[in-house]
Amino acid sequence: MSDFPSLGLSNWLIQQCKQMGINKPTSVQESCIPAILDGRDCLGCAKTGSGKTAAFVLPVLQKLSEDPYGIFCLVLSPTRELAYQIAEQFRVLGKPLGLRDCIVVGGMDMVTQALELSKKPHVVVATPGRLADHLRSSNTFHMKKIKFLILDEADRLLEQGCTDFTKDLEVILRAVPASRQTLLFSATLTDTLQELKSIAMNKPFFWESKSEVRTVDELDQRFILTPEKVKDAYLVHLIQKFQDEHDDWSIMIFTNTCKNCQVLTMMLREFNFPAISCTR
Ligand code: AMP
Repeated sequence: MSDFPSLGLSNWLIQQCKQMGINKPTSVQESCIPAILDGRDCLGCAKTGSGKTAAFVLPVLQKLSEDPYGIFCLVLSPTRELAYQIAEQFRVLGKPLGLRDCIVVGGMDMVTQALELSKKPHVVVATPGRLADHLRSSNTFHMKKIKFLILDEADRLLEQGCTDFTKDLEVILRAVPASRQTLLFSATLTDTLQELKSIAMNKPFFWESKSEVRTVDELDQRFILTPEKVKDAYLVHLIQKFQDEHDDWSIMIFTNTCKNCQVLTMMLREFNFPAISCTR
């Protein structure tokens, strides 16, 4: 396995990686970073947790450091949460550059976002619907000079009500220059993704994880099939068991709606678990 210097990354980026405990490249990084630095479009089929975010963040930051301006890079994410995680990696790894980023997702004030966009951040991380709304309604910013268009978790982007996404993507593709580099990362390679590849990419470098399973080996995944009315009782029991077996513990629970998230938090607090809800 190679190391970061042999992939062509600059020393300052390697030092930033070290600070984050990133010492050796993962396979997706080892394969995709040199191709991206070489100026190629890239289609990566990578597992969640494989280090795919850093596989695009690192080469983009390197290119940005050579010619810093805004807006340099646009990343599309299927969810707000992923958008925040991506922006965080840009922020931490790009700290020595004084990187300015802007997150454009639903549920936030349009005017404030438009103002931030007009300040020409280096990197914009956006959900497609909200960004397309801005492009349709605002003339305070443009994306005519971006060097990188990145679609992260592209399979999930495409899942989200196809017509809306297609319309939003059309608006976004019209706003960005043809002479960009397009990077597309996805856990699965679907037919629609192949279509997207043909409309948005130019002979991309293709990399696919050899493993059939799309999650990391260390992940222990289980499900419990229960009647609806005893679901919460099972959950409380599981948390109690976890608390009894671990001194230092934290658990993340995902719910389908904001309301369910808040109701669950209230219930867990009734059982004296130190719970907070995070809904946006
Ligand atoms: P991702 O697949 O992008 O969601 O990354 C999952 C996690 O792996 C993130 O917390 C990264 O900080 C971390 N990570 C990324 N690259 C490496 C690496 N080469 N070595 C160790 N950890 C890494």
